[in-house]
Amino acid sequence: MSEIILGIDLGTTNSAVGVVDSGFPILLANEDGKRITPSAVWIGRDGTIEVGEKALRRRALEPERVITSIKRLMGRRADEVEEHFPVPVDAGNDCLPRVLGKSPEEISAEILCEMKRIAEWRMETRISKAVITVPAYFHDAQRAATKRAGELAGLEVVRIINEPTAAALAYGLDKLGDHSRVAVYDLGGGTFDLSILEMRDGVFQVLATHGDTRLGGDDLDALILRHIEEKAGIDETTDALRVRFMEEAERVKRALTDNDQAVFRLPFYDGTHSIEQLLTRAELETIAAPWIGRTLRHCRKALADAALKPEDLQAIVLVGGSTRIPAVRRAVAELFQREPDVSQHPDEAIALGATIQGGVMSGALRQMILLDVTPLSLGIETFGGLMNVLIPRNTTIPCKAGEMFTNAADGQAAMRVRVLQGEREMARDNWQLGNFDVAFSPAPKGQARMGVQFKIDENGILEVLARDVSTGRDTVVKLGNAAVNVDDEAVETMVSESVEHAFTDMAERVFTEARLKAEELLPAVEAVLAQGLASDDERGEIQAAAAAVRSALAGGAANPLKAAVQRLDTATEALAARLVEQAMDEALERTMGGNEVVC
Ligand code: ADP
Ligand code: MG
Repeated sequence: MSEIILGIDLGTTNSAVGVVDSGFPILLANEDGKRITPSAVWIGRDGTIEVGEKALRRRALEPERVITSIKRLMGRRADEVEEHFPVPVDAGNDCLPRVLGKSPEEISAEILCEMKRIAEWRMETRISKAVITVPAYFHDAQRAATKRAGELAGLEVVRIINEPTAAALAYGLDKLGDHSRVAVYDLGGGTFDLSILEMRDGVFQVLATHGDTRLGGDDLDALILRHIEEKAGIDETTDALRVRFMEEAERVKRALTDNDQAVFRLPFYDGTHSIEQLLTRAELETIAAPWIGRTLRHCRKALADAALKPEDLQAIVLVGGSTRIPAVRRAVAELFQREPDVSQHPDEAIALGATIQGGVMSGALRQMILLDVTPLSLGIETFGGLMNVLIPRNTTIPCKAGEMFTNAADGQAAMRVRVLQGEREMARDNWQLGNFDVAFSPAPKGQARMGVQFKIDENGILEVLARDVSTGRDTVVKLGNAAVNVDDEAVETMVSESVEHAFTDMAERVFTEARLKAEELLPAVEAVLAQGLASDDERGEIQAAAAAVRSALAGGAANPLKAAVQRLDTATEALAARLVEQAMDEALERTMGGNEVVC
């Protein structure tokens, strides 16, 4: 088994970790059963440390000892930190910021340690390597600080990748092909950015990125809280109370993602007063409109920077927990004039992409590619309506297979290639993926040569090539996503039907093959008998065998026909050998004669 490489989204608000397990990228849940862990660190007076939900729970009692949003300080100098930070920031001797005596790297390392611990606990093994994501706008010092944090956590950071790139990987946008352009709209808890990526030679390049490191879901929580406070006539609160108010505002915000209304409720928040205020989704959308508007301005700037219009993009994806808000989705859809891809959990996509990157680097995902197989057999119809399999079911893709075919009739100048998928012996019982005609130089029966090749690339696209061997002329037809785009149920039905009909199908194939042989043999036998070379005994047996073949053909049963054809074959064997001998003698005589002339 290849060595595990973790994929970690070290987020401002939340972090997540994943691994490739048995060829599939998965995120790992913490002890609370959550795949997302708050990026919060509590440092007790005695140096004890708690991370995640456990740290957040300490906020009610010791808000000044719970550090959140440490990502904002990564790779910054103390004098660059002008923002309001939830806990006091000091400058160390090195002019780097310190929070509760620790550097941002050390605090981030605690979060990474927790991610590593969750993964080791879930996977029941030691893990020492990771891919970690950073925002596309992070400069070198910020990236280096993130790498150092990983090392402090006992992880070898095998790659730092951009968050939008990770998101694009998670959405499988790498499959869109070279030069495709995608936009990643990432609205998290404390930051917003829009990145436009272009795929070049299999690698995502950031064409433009725009955003605001102080614009996220927290701001909307604050706007909701202000609205509630105005309605309830509250102005002053203590720090500890503010934590509770903000938590309730966030809860109400999330509730309004799924419901039309929610109640902001804080009973006896200061011992005597209570708040109970109804908020509707419509109200929330009014409050949120300017906040969403700010993100859209950044989107327009990024498009302008990249000199692109929305229609130049192949896809837009949403990541970050705040993109669950319906009004955000609507606004993005309108600006980019298309429905955004929301097929992944927005707050998990980045960690999933990092995991995929880790899997590719460890080799674990090659196993997944190996698991990519043709769900059903692929072939073409041959003479007699039979299915001729070129690529059997469960063949690993990409793959290539070919076979030579010939003409079934004299002077035939074209051949119809019917591309089939399925497990049944007769062509008509399989699915037809397409058909096309190929012209070839007319030739007597059985003498034209037509090569047919099937090629399935890593995306499951089937390409059929037909070559007239005598002229070298190729006909190439692409048949779309034939290999992988079949739903599981249909595959199951096809396979179970093929099992169910196995005996009748096989009998029909045997009969058809024997019939084709009989139809070839009978006229040939007539012709030979007409030459009068057979002895009387031979003639009697051959005629009896031929009659048996004719009656078996009429009878329609496979095995009697096969036996009759076999008998006819045997009956003509000695005669056929004599014919060949005679033909060779004649040919030899001709050659000898030729030689004499030359001498
Ligand atoms: P980050 O990238 O900043 O670490 P996330 O992508 O996890 O964070 O986003 C966290 C933000 O998403 C928070 O502001 C949270 O309130 C918001 N959020 C999460 N779920 C929902 C939801 N269902 N509705 C609205 N906002 C949500
Ligand atoms: Mg994020």
